[in-house]
Amino acid sequence: MKKLLKGGRVVSGEGVREADVLLEGETVAAVGPGLDAGDAEIVDCAGKLLFPGFIDAHTHFDLEVGGTITADDFATGSRAALRGGTTTVIDFAAPDKGDTLAYGLNRWREKASAGTACDYGFHMTIDDWNEGISREIGEMVEQGIPTFKLYMTYPAMMLPEGDMYRALKRLKEVGGIAGVHCENSGMIDVLIAEAKAAGRMGPGSHPRTRPAPLEAEAVSHLLRMAQVVDIPVIIVHLSTRESLEEVRAARKRGQTVYVETCPHYLLLEDSVYDNPDFLEAAKFICAPPIRKAEDRAALWEALKAGEIQTVATDHCSFTLAQKRVGRYDFTKIPGGLPGVEHRGVLLYTYGVAAGRVSASDMCRVLSENAAKLYGCWPRKGVIAPGSDADIVVYDPAGIGVITAADQAQHTDYTPYEGYQTAGKVRQVYLRGALAVEDGEILPTQGKFIPRGKNVL
Ligand code: MN
Repeated sequence: MKKLLKGGRVVSGEGVREADVLLEGETVAAVGPGLDAGDAEIVDCAGKLLFPGFIDAHTHFDLEVGGTITADDFATGSRAALRGGTTTVIDFAAPDKGDTLAYGLNRWREKASAGTACDYGFHMTIDDWNEGISREIGEMVEQGIPTFKLYMTYPAMMLPEGDMYRALKRLKEVGGIAGVHCENSGMIDVLIAEAKAAGRMGPGSHPRTRPAPLEAEAVSHLLRMAQVVDIPVIIVHLSTRESLEEVRAARKRGQTVYVETCPHYLLLEDSVYDNPDFLEAAKFICAPPIRKAEDRAALWEALKAGEIQTVATDHCSFTLAQKRVGRYDFTKIPGGLPGVEHRGVLLYTYGVAAGRVSASDMCRVLSENAAKLYGCWPRKGVIAPGSDADIVVYDPAGIGVITAADQAQHTDYTPYEGYQTAGKVRQVYLRGALAVEDGEILPTQGKFIPRGKNVL
């Protein structure tokens, strides 16, 4: 079955050009002006932008956090992803301490086997260290999982200093790369204890016990370890101006550092935690916390300057009832925000339409760079002959408003309630199959995407 997407403007990291796109089966057959339709079904794309399917390399579906499980599983999360133009997600497989990596991977394969509608891959979390795990790291790379996650905070996840070094060294041997959650754990624990001792139990204590300098300190700490090991690293969900300064310093001394940020750090500010209505504040609890307006401005500047390589969501959704569990103790509020559905339209509205970044910049941070960095380029991340026919037909003339009432994310709120949007996702194709049409999600079957080398 052939489809000809006719008369649109094809976006890549290099620019925007008028071209038709011929889809044949699961892949793109041709891209160019005035393509002959032959027996293809014609889809009128006049006035539309055609983006390569967005890749969200940071989601948490079906994850247990603090005794509760995320509101989205792989079935609901992947459908919400598609609705917003995201055709591939990379989620985090996480063995518990004491498990093998293979056990963790199998658990996540099982979770994802239950109706994942978009394509997917896994990062492997290294939260423990022994000879077996060291060996398994090589096996993971061979199985198409070349990317790993390390935590510098959370007792259940973090590695002690020496093991962090060992893990980085081992990743270097096998050509793997780690994304790292950077926050200074020890001081945060004490700040939390101080807040509790003083009776400051509300959500307002959350950002105050995870202050910006303790992210920058951890970023610096990691980057100095990476310097000694001589390995590139990824800072995930970087949220502050000061962290950017640390990245710049490392790059200046010749290190390769990749930076990811998230829509909530680009669009929100920390006054959300001071709302006297508990749930209105609690629904923004995530780590790192939402930062200040000056951080937000610095992140947009860095995005425009190409200092930030990817924008992912860190989608980790809970319902308001789940957030309510922390009513009398902010540390018991499950941390994480929904967002997998709205990343594209937010970036377009507040980035491209607002004149902060170009459509090509948006393509790079949502598609192209993620495909390159996470090892699935050029299968994903570009509209070119031979690539998977993952395409977002975006209508810049559309307008909309984000509401919880109109979302596929399986939760009862969105951090962006009432946000006006410029442009609309009209169609989404997943490997040639129509997955979304004007907000309606059609049945599709996602595939595990084995990944290889970072080429960014
Ligand atoms: Mn995360």
